[in-house]
Amino acid sequence: TTPAPSSRNHLWRPYTQMKTAAPPLEAVATQGTRIRLADGRELVDGIASWWTAVHGYNHPHIATAVAAQLAAMPHVMFGGLTHAPAERLAARLAALLPGDLDHVFFSDSGSVAVEVALKMAAQLWLNRGVAGRTRVLAFRGGYHGDTMGAMSVCDPEEGMHRRFGAWLPAQVFCDLPGTRAEADALDETLRAHRDGLAAVIVEPLVQGAGGMRMHPPETLATVARLSRAHGLPLIADEVFTGFGRTGTLFACEQAGVTPDILCLSKALTGGTMTLAATVARTEVFEGFWSDDPAAALMHGPTFMANPLACAAAEASLDLFAREPRLDQARAIGRRLAAGLEPLRGALGVADVRVLGAIGAVQFARAPDLAALKARLLDHGVWVRPFGDIVYLTPALTIEAADLDRLIGAVAGVVAGQDG
Ligand code: PMP
Repeated sequence: TTPAPSSRNHLWRPYTQMKTAAPPLEAVATQGTRIRLADGRELVDGIASWWTAVHGYNHPHIATAVAAQLAAMPHVMFGGLTHAPAERLAARLAALLPGDLDHVFFSDSGSVAVEVALKMAAQLWLNRGVAGRTRVLAFRGGYHGDTMGAMSVCDPEEGMHRRFGAWLPAQVFCDLPGTRAEADALDETLRAHRDGLAAVIVEPLVQGAGGMRMHPPETLATVARLSRAHGLPLIADEVFTGFGRTGTLFACEQAGVTPDILCLSKALTGGTMTLAATVARTEVFEGFWSDDPAAALMHGPTFMANPLACAAAEASLDLFAREPRLDQARAIGRRLAAGLEPLRGALGVADVRVLGAIGAVQFARAPDLAALKARLLDHGVWVRPFGDIVYLTPALTIEAADLDRLIGAVAGVVAGQDG
């Protein structure tokens, strides 16, 4: 028997550790939209490290800001102390976000941003003296993270989480209201669970990790309208869609919707540091906040508002202000559409979807993923299909030639035209 690779002995990690998976490739450096491997290969990155590195890797403006912060104060506890990087970042986010989404809480990952949003909703009802509103309405096909609360609002059939079902808080699920009948069904479900619901959670415009399913702004507007009609705070999870991915800075803008609570992470720091924000509207904030410790929302992660991460996020916002990132996102979308749409109707292709700087090709049947990944690597691109989906979510700064190489690799592999 061959000895287990050392990564299997000491370093535990999902996805690449299963016996059936190819061993992970060792990355040694990144630059722009390239990842260099230990064996000397250089790959064009098609997914920007799970949609985080919107400005490409190693952007000098972010590197400089982080280096300065590292010298001044890499971290300090946020209990009883505050600091300018967090104060400034919160104010800048509040200015960029729609409506009166003005009250920012910093944590450290998308899942925790969702946990905090759920706790805000819970605290809101507790402070109103209402008991029994312990459930959240979530949408089938959604994905909100890997912690227990976040898992409980993911699609209940979602493969990674299904087995934990008995451990998770029970929630209420509905289809996204794309049609009149679905809107009526959502309305009916909200009515039926009138006294048990605390909030509604949705991924605006794109259900990302759940399958890159896109819906029009009208669907989001319907969700917002019905949530409001039933007196429920709307939580928008923009962990995936935030910071330009859908062609606007935030996806909610396209529907003219101001959610009551908004979750951000991933591209918040331009993909360099781990930081998340849960942002509340003033009315919601006043509902869960209190001078009485017994009535104030308590959540205090050790590394909340880490100054290095806040400095990186500020530098990332500078880049959004100075450079035409949203135009770039839309241009990527046009190129993705031109390159991927022709695959519609090709043998084995069930659907092609493009929105903003996101392109996805869905197969009719789940392909041999290992073989597919190997063939994409042969093209010199880093693209990781999941399930029956191949998707591209490159850095918004990607050069046209690199984008064409990604599209060509996906088109070639998908259509089986490359032998
Ligand atoms: N919400 C959404 C919409 C996401 O796409 C993700 C991550 N894929 C999460 C939450 C969880 O974020 P994290 O992995 O940083 O915990």
